[in-house]
Amino acid sequence: MRLAELGEFGLIDRIADKVAASSSVPLGIGDDAAALLPTPETLTLITSDMLLEGVHFDLSFGDPQSLGRKSLSVNLSDLAAMGAKPRHFLLSIALPRELSLEFMDGFMSGLLEQAERFGVTLVGGDTCASKGGLAISITALGEQRPERVVKRSGAAAGDLIYLTGTVGDAAAGLRELRAGVRGGFLVARQLDPQPRVAAGVALAEAGLASAMIDVSDGVLGDLGHICERSGVGARLDLARLPLSEEYRATSGADPYALALSGGEDYELLFCVPKGRGGEMEALVAGLGLTATRIGEIVEGSGLQLIDADGGAYLPAQRGFDHFG
Ligand code: ADP
Ligand code: MG
Repeated sequence: MRLAELGEFGLIDRIADKVAASSSVPLGIGDDAAALLPTPETLTLITSDMLLEGVHFDLSFGDPQSLGRKSLSVNLSDLAAMGAKPRHFLLSIALPRELSLEFMDGFMSGLLEQAERFGVTLVGGDTCASKGGLAISITALGEQRPERVVKRSGAAAGDLIYLTGTVGDAAAGLRELRAGVRGGFLVARQLDPQPRVAAGVALAEAGLASAMIDVSDGVLGDLGHICERSGVGARLDLARLPLSEEYRATSGADPYALALSGGEDYELLFCVPKGRGGEMEALVAGLGLTATRIGEIVEGSGLQLIDADGGAYLPAQRGFDHFG
């Protein structure tokens, strides 16, 4: 069956039928606006991310389920980077008329599976036909107590810089997909990133992160955002960059290039006051994750990149910029 036969309202009903009720949503899908019950004494944090066919994804690269999961994951990652607990989200979609119902069902099952996993409820959205490709826009809402919210602007000279997980995998996976590879670790890191929600919330609640960001545009670009917002510089020890075995095996002559500028890993990059590094590492390890110290915040501005020999490293490319 094609979407045209089901119609806009048939499709919305089909989506609404799959959404579980939530005590924080007295009024969900079906009216002109949704009503949400906030947790007392918390701020609402709200973020939006758009995924466009041909710009952010290629339908031939992966299955609809992982596209559904990723659409939500990239938003959950932004909330995690603020230390916010994700609660609700809106889904706006523009669909080509010829898209199959099978695709849409797969997309929604991946999306709602990820929503359930992270305890977030779909509360509304918008649905329209697209004359171009598929477009997906999700707006996610999260909560945190005001004093616990972690901004980009709190880094201070002397703070240690940490990264969860490994970097460069998603960009290496995209390179593999473009070369025709359709499976494996790197491809999965590109198509199905795991947002570090538990780590972001735990770091915020323990007051361990002075500044935090998720790595969506690449380590250099995203650390650059923290430095600019905080009015500081940073020194990075490239030999300390956490790189997966799979990444190392495909990285070629310059092992740092994609790890520094590739983006889309959705790991957390954060700063920790000196002296609290051990406490932080134990906390993150307790969540089954690794956090690797990659450098230090310094006074001044700009990034100093030190390679394995102690020399200065000059990156060929910085981070991703849509208009760059
Ligand atoms: P209106 O015309 O008043 O904007 P719509 O007909 O667009 O209302 O939407 C009807 C209901 O369905 C609303 O509650 C809206 O939030 C919800 N909705 C529409 N599209 C989606 C979607 N893709 N996912 C979830 N809810 C949706
Ligand atoms: Mg509408």
